[in-house]
Amino acid sequence: MPANKRTWAEPFKIKVVEPVNIPSPATRERAIREAGFNTFLLRSEDVYIDLLTDSGTTAMSDRQWAAMMVGDEAYAGSKSFYRLEEAVQTWYGYKYVVPAHQGRGAENLLSKTLIKPGDIVPGNMYFTTTRLHQELAGGTFVDVIIPEAHDPTSTHPFKGDVDLARVEEVIDLYGAGRIPYISIAATVNLAGGQPISLGNARAVRELAHRHGIRVILDAARVVENAYFIQKREPGFEDWSIAAIVKELCSQTDGCTMSAKKDPLVNIGGFLAVNDHAIYEDAANLAVIYEGLHTYGGMAGRDMEALATGIEESLHEDHIRARVGQVLYLGQKLIDARVPIVVPVGGHGVFLDARAFLPHVPQEQYPAQALAAALYLDSGVRSMERGIVSAGRNKETGEENKPKLELVRLTIPRRVYTQAHMDVVAESVESVFADRASIRGLRMTYEPKYLRFFQARFEPLEL
Ligand SMILES: *Cc1c(COP(=O)(O)O)cnc(C)c1O
Repeated sequence: MPANKRTWAEPFKIKVVEPVNIPSPATRERAIREAGFNTFLLRSEDVYIDLLTDSGTTAMSDRQWAAMMVGDEAYAGSKSFYRLEEAVQTWYGYKYVVPAHQGRGAENLLSKTLIKPGDIVPGNMYFTTTRLHQELAGGTFVDVIIPEAHDPTSTHPFKGDVDLARVEEVIDLYGAGRIPYISIAATVNLAGGQPISLGNARAVRELAHRHGIRVILDAARVVENAYFIQKREPGFEDWSIAAIVKELCSQTDGCTMSAKKDPLVNIGGFLAVNDHAIYEDAANLAVIYEGLHTYGGMAGRDMEALATGIEESLHEDHIRARVGQVLYLGQKLIDARVPIVVPVGGHGVFLDARAFLPHVPQEQYPAQALAAALYLDSGVRSMERGIVSAGRNKETGEENKPKLELVRLTIPRRVYTQAHMDVVAESVESVFADRASIRGLRMTYEPKYLRFFQARFEPLEL
């Protein structure tokens, strides 16, 4: 058989294992009630396969654990900070780095530094914490993603692309002076892990810079995005992943990074920019919200693990196996005719709850109900990405009603095996076969901020 047709396996072998529990049906029934039918409120000991998130759930390598032992815990000017700074400069190409405790810490620094009350921030679909920090700084997010992103059945290869005509309209409407930056996410989480093309990122930069507007990258999943560019975008098939990542970053003036995603660590993040004045303001704010600008809420050992993780995340065999595992699960569900978002994204498989549960109206939180039903079936934990996550309009207080009503099966990096994916697929198929029995939910407690994390629900009567 030719080498490129042969099967392949994870580019690692397992040195340490962590046993998992399989909760009984009675335990699952009790646990989901106690959690108010919100998978965020389950205890992990009651979970069998945990696909809540790929955030901070990575298995670190032996090299990363070894790096932690040489972490320099100096309060100021830690060696580990300079190693991290050098890794960011080398692999992403930005000049200045402010560490943060995680992505939202960096978003807070960026939003407070660049956004004035009344400003507008266009972006390729919102992300929960990103939009909230923009709003808390007095800005308003405007969605400028292409319309295909809102259609779970569209097979557009780059559903994360920005609608350039829409950006022009927004600039005409508000004026470039009110737009501090355009925010672009590499693989758009809420669209189902969909990539942006390099051609589109270049066009966004050209358009933005023509109007004197900056471009800021949400880099959490920039490596997964690079993998899709290598596989799908003409002209990039022979580029290395590292070269594509750097090219994508070079279209932007800075990035916020949740290092809990692609960079393969359990905690951490940073803001990186090319403009020295912005760096100075952000580094100063870091002292208030994060910590001194040479640690920003991270221990020295965390910065060491991150510097190593950034480099490992760019290995071709790593990213092929990482995205390959997600595609494997997605293909199983497609073959079983379960409605999912296509093309399958980089970090998870997204069930289309509207098509899955056509009898549950959006006001009854179908994706939330489906995530609870999946847990009840097998102990697999997933996450709602629909009307609950979308929250309320900041002016009218009405619930935002996103077109996409999704349940995310998010695959942690280097944690689960193909057999785990088979178990997940079987459980989804079984819930699908029994979907008519799933009822909608009523919200019984709604917190003020980012309600999806802590809201509680109860099933509606039939
Ligand atoms: C996770 C995430 C964030 C926020 O990062 P945290 O590390 O969770 O604070 C921002 N943007 C995207 C796309 C993310 O996935």
